[in-house]
Amino acid sequence: NIVFVAREIAGEETRVAASAETVKKMKSFGFDVVVEAGAGAASRIPDGEFEAAGARIGSFADAASADVVLKVRRPSPSEIAGYKSGAVVIAIMDPYGNDEAIAALASAGLSAFAMELMPRITRAQSMDVLSSQANLAGYQAVIEAAGVYDRAMPMMMTAAGTVPAAKVFVMGAGVAGLQAIATARRLGAAVSATDVRPAAKEQVASLGAKFIAVEDEEFKAAETAGGYAKEMSADYQAKQAALVAEHIAKQDIVITTALIPGRAAPRLVSRAMLAAMKPGAVAVDLAVERGGNIEGVVAGEIADVEGVRVIGFANMPGRVAASASALYAKNLVTFLETMVNKETKTVVANLDDELVKATMLTYAGDVVHPAFGGARK
Ligand code: NAD
Repeated sequence: NIVFVAREIAGEETRVAASAETVKKMKSFGFDVVVEAGAGAASRIPDGEFEAAGARIGSFADAASADVVLKVRRPSPSEIAGYKSGAVVIAIMDPYGNDEAIAALASAGLSAFAMELMPRITRAQSMDVLSSQANLAGYQAVIEAAGVYDRAMPMMMTAAGTVPAAKVFVMGAGVAGLQAIATARRLGAAVSATDVRPAAKEQVASLGAKFIAVEDEEFKAAETAGGYAKEMSADYQAKQAALVAEHIAKQDIVITTALIPGRAAPRLVSRAMLAAMKPGAVAVDLAVERGGNIEGVVAGEIADVEGVRVIGFANMPGRVAASASALYAKNLVTFLETMVNKETKTVVANLDDELVKATMLTYAGDVVHPAFGGARK
């Protein structure tokens, strides 16, 4: 089997789908690994490091003979055209609302796997790219905020006077939010957080932050069986907005991370709320790629909205690329290993495996995932 590790071409993607460690692992499966020249450059992995791990450095033309293609982003039509029919392609496929792109993967005869659809079960924890990347995004959000905030984060008592601790409010206490809380606490900020899932309350408190939420009957039932948030009623949203408006006016930094699977991000911070914040306030919207939690956020920019600097960087994990790639590569190779037939040294997807069922978008010319119009045979 030949595995091809692609150099990303989409936008400013800085991550790469393999590391020296995962190349070695794939070699141990009996695979040949070809890394496209320069694939790891933005993640600080020089070609020589891949070579030392046993990979051959190649060009895009090598994709044509690969049985497995590893990527960060879904391949573009021109990339797909360079792959061999029947090849396995594993990436973050961003399938929601992209039916045409999924159809293109199917008609090229590819077995395409969407890593972000990995079920969040114990067995698949080490393959959970949403968690590995959100964790770093939460960390980096605080670093970016601290970088533009013109004050110090911790309280400093000096001979020249006292600098107060920054007040940081984290909205959405899932994987990214919890890491943002932990990071802000490490920097010495006074941290508060909110979420609509009751389970978040204890987690926030255990990190030493104050939990703030409208804790009514709807809140008590806001977590789905899968552990995600439901879309809240208009009534709840109004109550939440009133609470947030009062709290946010006293904050220096707001970091929003709220998402609802398969939907647009909930709008949590209005222009009026931003206008009420202190001079020099900073906000970071980690939900920007899904429409944003903050009114006025601009994807890829630091926008001045009502006097608040609103950071809307897309691909926050890509801003800490070396770490993000290391974890992403590990997630990928762990999943790949579940599909390796040790005798034939080939990749064979077991269509009855729940991990395959959850992540496989296309197979043998068809879209097979039921969430995207496929009828699984
Ligand atoms: P996510 O990225 O879907 O959403 C981020 C957070 O936003 C969530 O905590 C969500 O409750 C919150 N949110 C949604 N709407 C909101 C609103 N209107 N106001 C405030 N907050 C709102 O979530 P995630 O980070 O992927 O985590 C979801 C859950 O899955 C968590 O309970 C997490 O602990 C759990 N999880 C489990 C596993 C596992 O068991 N393997 C792995 C990862 C995460």
